[in-house]
Amino acid sequence: MSITGRFAPSPTGILHLGNLRTALASWLSVRKAGGRWLIRVEDVDGPRCHRDLGDAQLRDLERLGLVSDEPVVWQSERSAHYREALASLHRAHLLYPCACTRKDLQLLASAPHAEDGLRPYPGRCRFRAWEGFERALRFQLSDGVILWEDRLLGAQSDDPALLTGDPLLFRRDGCFAYHLAVVVDDGAQGVDEVVRGADLRPVTATQIRLQEALGLPTPAYAHLGMVLAPDGGRLGKRAGALGIEALADRGVAVPDLLGWLGWSLGCLSEAKPCQVEELIAGFDWSRVPKGDVRVPPVWG
Ligand code: GLU
Repeated sequence: MSITGRFAPSPTGILHLGNLRTALASWLSVRKAGGRWLIRVEDVDGPRCHRDLGDAQLRDLERLGLVSDEPVVWQSERSAHYREALASLHRAHLLYPCACTRKDLQLLASAPHAEDGLRPYPGRCRFRAWEGFERALRFQLSDGVILWEDRLLGAQSDDPALLTGDPLLFRRDGCFAYHLAVVVDDGAQGVDEVVRGADLRPVTATQIRLQEALGLPTPAYAHLGMVLAPDGGRLGKRAGALGIEALADRGVAVPDLLGWLGWSLGCLSEAKPCQVEELIAGFDWSRVPKGDVRVPPVWG
């Protein structure tokens, strides 16, 4: 089976352990299957993204031995494709302008909250008349539950209206939104396996609806558990900054880090220092733990 996988970081900070584990799992799955592995920097959110952070993320991945098989794609250079996708959704009458302010959304969201703290947009502006491409734009979800299969978690069934509601695809500040860019680019790059953190599982059904509307195939998904603090809590700001540099300062060299990451993904029976290629043989989705993992106490 030949697959195309990708790692798609947003350059808003350093890559922490959770990001590195996701990147490695995606790379291992592709290498095991003899496929194509890509890196795409998701820098559509202009004010929050920084080119130098993207460059630093690429350097960190390279230190682990994770290098894109094709030139790295930067989403900030792909606006024309996102505009084209918006035009096609508009022709299909699936876009509407949204005039809700942040404050409106907070008030509206005090009604039923979805799981995982997501607040579904209740569709307040659905019947607003079209005002052109300069407005904030939302995608009108069609009704119904989506059934999809997660490589790690198994059969899933989600109603996107209860999880995200109609997603914003274009923002008032002129930025294209994550849901649009990720769907358009996975389609354009022929990505058929998406490995990412479980925090994004609740938006998958919404993205599947968008793929359907744009006539794009749905990739296979695998949502990995989170990397938690040694006591099982969320990684705090200090420990959350655990990237390659911070770990090196604590005496954790790249081979140690790879050993722990490989062990946490079920490739090794114990966390012993290794090179990335040594993990390929032991990788199998059936051995990857479904739940969250905790960082070793000495790292936390
Ligand atoms: N860019 C997203 C993030 O860093 C990930 C997108 C995805 O994997 O679908 O959270």
